[in-house]
Amino acid sequence: MELEYKDHLSPMLKGDIKNYLIDIDGTITDDVPNEEPERMVDCIPYPDALETINRWYDQGHIICYFTSRTENLKQITIDWLDKHGFKYHSVLCGKPRGGNYHWIDNHLVKATRYKGKFTNMVEKKVTIEVFED
Ligand SMILES: [Mg+2]
Repeated sequence: MELEYKDHLSPMLKGDIKNYLIDIDGTITDDVPNEEPERMVDCIPYPDALETINRWYDQGHIICYFTSRTENLKQITIDWLDKHGFKYHSVLCGKPRGGNYHWIDNHLVKATRYKGKFTNMVEKKVTIEVFED
């Protein structure tokens, strides 16, 4: 991973490389709740998600699956990702459940809501909430 270190601040990715944090349930496959882990074994990936995310990986972007699945479901998740050919760098479990996410960070954050189609990204003007100046 290409990181740039400047002036004793936390490192940043070089160039246009993105850190993708990608949800699993309802985003790259069916929306399977933690209470039904048996479905996590047999659910089918969304083909456009698999293709698009693997392309981002091949382009050098960092792929992290960031999921509300609990730690005890991590190995099932890794086995499923590997079985279906997902390319990734890491899996983070324990994302808070319930949606309505609002991420505050000193690094740039962009968010994209998945609405049923995984494609390349396009730019659109939207309204966001920011801190007062
Ligand atoms: Mg989800």
